[in-house]
Amino acid sequence: MKKVKLSVAALLIASVGFAQTQCQALTKQQNQCKNTVKTGKLCYLHNPNYTKKCKKTAVICSGTTKSNKNCKKKTKNQSGKCYLHENK
Ligand SMILES: [Zn+2]
Ligand SMILES: [Zn+2]
Repeated sequence: MKKVKLSVAALLIASVGFAQTQCQALTKQQNQCKNTVKTGKLCYLHNPNYTKKCKKTAVICSGTTKSNKNCKKKTKNQSGKCYLHENK
């Protein structure tokens, strides 16, 4: 039974190691980035889709509704507009 337990532990370690891959992007010095990534192939520095989890405070959307009233949705978008009004 001891052997079985050991192999399970080894498998767990292997799967944990496998979950982190190295970022595939290059640094400014043309070296491969050494950051590890858990999802995707690019680290947060090189992933254009990465959104920083900074502590932004929500503001009321500056857009207007169809009936010309101020939108009351809160948003953390840089544009100050909610998802409904952002790209308009
Ligand atoms: Zn990177
Ligand atoms: Zn809005």
